[in-house]
Amino acid sequence: MNRRGFLGTTVAFSAAMAAPMIVRADGHSRPKVVVVGGGAGGATAARYIARDSDGAVDVTLIEPSRAYYTCFFSNLYIGGFRDFDGLGHTYGNLATGGVNVVHDWAVAVDRDAKIVRLAGGESVPYDRLVLSPGIDFIEDSVPGWSLAAQNAMPHAYKAGSQTQLLKAQVEAMPEGGTFAMVAPPNPYRCPPGPYERVSMVAHLLRDINPTARILIADPKETFSKQALFEDGWQRHYSGMIERIGPDFGGGVVEVDPAAMTLSIDGAVENVDVCNVIPAMRAGSIVFQADLNDGNWAPVSAYDMSSRVDESIHILGDSAQQGAMPKSGFSANSQAKVAANAIVAALTDGRAFPARFSNTCWSLIDTDDGIKVGANYEASDEGIVSTGGFVSQLDETSEVRAETYRESLGWYDAITEDMLG
Ligand SMILES: Cc1cc2nc3c(=O)[nH]c(=O)nc-3n(C[C@H](O)[C@H](O)[C@H](O)COP(=O)(O)OP(=O)(O)OC[C@H]3O[C@@H](n4cnc5c(N)ncnc54)[C@H](O)[C@@H]3O)c2cc1C
Repeated sequence: MNRRGFLGTTVAFSAAMAAPMIVRADGHSRPKVVVVGGGAGGATAARYIARDSDGAVDVTLIEPSRAYYTCFFSNLYIGGFRDFDGLGHTYGNLATGGVNVVHDWAVAVDRDAKIVRLAGGESVPYDRLVLSPGIDFIEDSVPGWSLAAQNAMPHAYKAGSQTQLLKAQVEAMPEGGTFAMVAPPNPYRCPPGPYERVSMVAHLLRDINPTARILIADPKETFSKQALFEDGWQRHYSGMIERIGPDFGGGVVEVDPAAMTLSIDGAVENVDVCNVIPAMRAGSIVFQADLNDGNWAPVSAYDMSSRVDESIHILGDSAQQGAMPKSGFSANSQAKVAANAIVAALTDGRAFPARFSNTCWSLIDTDDGIKVGANYEASDEGIVSTGGFVSQLDETSEVRAETYRESLGWYDAITEDMLG
């Protein structure tokens, strides 16, 4: 979808929602929505609720960071296709758009009292709560790795300083050295993300260190857009990339950050850079609020409300919603559905049927972009796909270049849609 198409959907949806009246008659205040997490899901939800309720709903966004660095396109920064500053976005337009932006951590949700407690000591009451805290990592999922070791072996799976560190480490590799990646098990944030990253690291190394090698230890049998990535690696980076899947021990991995070794099924490798992407789970606040079932938070596909507490909506990577991949586009799409449902419930606005869409773009090499995507709708079982598309192996270079250009338009559109 191009920028105009993306925004066109947004504008039509917004116009239909304009200026609803408050039906709440409790006499004391505007209804309050608190949003935890100012990323792809939370920022979008906060912005749409404030805008589409036309000020009738009091919206507070809790987010510790003053700037949001997008994971989307962070691989392109590693590959040299994007400036780091270009990944960073502030919350000023949300504030001028009527959202009360509070830079703090939410440390607890008191569901009985309907209060969110902040690290700074404040308590913020809510009528509806939106949680979009992204992912956290599962301790010990890669033996030897911990958050304390993340600077020796960065994950770079939350964008910012980790992304800069990983790029600097790749640039400092000795001639002919080894870059290793420990890929995560399903389900995880951005299914093609690790493999786009391998492509971007290979792109960088081909220029500055062409005898270097890339080793991927992967616990999964298959991965997103595998045939397309492997074809691209063969065409652009022949002989540089080796992936060890579960059949050859790719799932039996241990690391030693002090010694800079990676052990795959007992065979020890000395490595120069080790990008460990551990197994993931919903953000910690979801667990604190007791909204999880296992690693994720089950939600209704109709309005993204928690199956445990219907006054709480859970978006994006943390949600267990059905068929959508954990992506920024998915989180943004889910946020609009939740915002519509929340505004409709708190005012006399109209609730529309839940429809979702997603596209995951990946860059393999200069002007060689690929994509996979689908449209979705709600069902009692969860979000279900109504049809999708994927790039083909035999596409022309012009089609691939156009796919990359499409992704550039999408980036500008989604960041504006999230943050104004
Ligand atoms: C390398 C990489 C590449 C990617 N590429 C793409 C791509 O091309 N396209 C795409 O669509 N997606 C992509 N993604 C995935 C995308 O970044 C995520 O799916 C998306 O950001 C999820 O949105 P979210 O709102 O769930 O979480 P996030 O965007 O991570 O936002 C969560 C926010 O919550 C805040 N937070 C967490 N806990 C608390 C708390 N207790 N109190 C207050 N705030 C809190 C965090 O600070 C953070 O700002 C990529 C991811 C990676 C890692």
